[in-house]
Amino acid sequence: MNKRDYYEVLGVSKDADEKEIKSAFRKLAKKYHPDVSKEPDAAEKFKEAQEAYAVLSDESKRKQYDQFGHAAFDQMNGGAGFDFSDFDISDILSEIFGQSFGGAFSGFSNFSGFGGRSKERGGSRATRGSDRLMRVDIDFDEAVFGCKKTINLDVYDSCKECNGKGGKGEKTCPACYGSGTITKEQSTLFGSFMTRTTCPECNGKGKVYESNCSKCRGTGKIKENKDIEVKIPAGVDTGTQLRLAGKGDSGTNGGPNGDLYLEFRVKEHPIYERDGNDIYLELPITITDAVLGCKKEIPTLYGVVKLSIEPGARTGDKHRMKGKGIEDLRTGSKGNMYVVINVIVPDKIDKKQKKLFEELSNTDLKTNEFKKFDDYLKKVK
Ligand SMILES: [Zn+2]
Ligand SMILES: [Zn+2]
Repeated sequence: MNKRDYYEVLGVSKDADEKEIKSAFRKLAKKYHPDVSKEPDAAEKFKEAQEAYAVLSDESKRKQYDQFGHAAFDQMNGGAGFDFSDFDISDILSEIFGQSFGGAFSGFSNFSGFGGRSKERGGSRATRGSDRLMRVDIDFDEAVFGCKKTINLDVYDSCKECNGKGGKGEKTCPACYGSGTITKEQSTLFGSFMTRTTCPECNGKGKVYESNCSKCRGTGKIKENKDIEVKIPAGVDTGTQLRLAGKGDSGTNGGPNGDLYLEFRVKEHPIYERDGNDIYLELPITITDAVLGCKKEIPTLYGVVKLSIEPGARTGDKHRMKGKGIEDLRTGSKGNMYVVINVIVPDKIDKKQKKLFEELSNTDLKTNEFKKFDDYLKKVK
């Protein structure tokens, strides 16, 4: 099935801001929420809008989508994978429909959102841990050739003391009789219907504990500071993201860990400018070198190379050094290096040099390029 473009789904432009995206989703939610909509394909439409909103309202996911399209979240294609059911839109739903929607979808329309959320929201369902994004500064050479880095970060691991449960002496929650939800009849603008909210006593777990775990203070998770060794591949650039599967926060109730994304920021090189896999180098030469031609030593990524510059060189002349650029992160093919000539006119000269220039100025140094100007000047004088 061809998935529709997320921007198209929400009916917003590619450069829509946060506000426009939220307001577009709000309109669609109002129209297609399966509990209120009469449209035959409301559930599908709502799901589509929810997914688009989940991605476009999240800065880092939107960036991934802009770069890779739907493939960014398609695990089959090596994408990040993304469980849309964990995306919380309850604040928007309660804004539209009133507080009763704040906790969960009503469970009476056979609509299960993503991954059966309405049936088992909270509960003891295994939930994947959150993804994390971390920015990493690296040197130009490290980005070009790859490197190993030790990254220090705080991660949340399941508490070993209570096996991630958060307490000891488990018993059924007396408020919800273990269901994790509380059902109420609710009157709204759209008529009266049954709604289900997460049980506030047990936060939807259906179970309470006689005593909270003292080690994790009932959260079931322990913050740990870890050093992890990361191999950064050759060819990364500023903005490139590297996904470390399972290195994000730990899941709850035995759910898998989230992923850790490293986003690189490459420091500037003293003389190279990078453009994708190509490298630009500005080469300063003197006027005599420019006029007479010269041989110059050029530092490339792969050692020093001699470059011949023909007589008559000019500022802006570009010399391509094939394959002396950066190896592509994916294909492994190398970019080029471009040496761009900059003829520098001296701002101070000594007596001897002055004399030589004066002698030179008595010779004809004009090229054809002077003709147009000189002719015009003659005409108007
Ligand atoms: Zn309860
Ligand atoms: Zn614990």
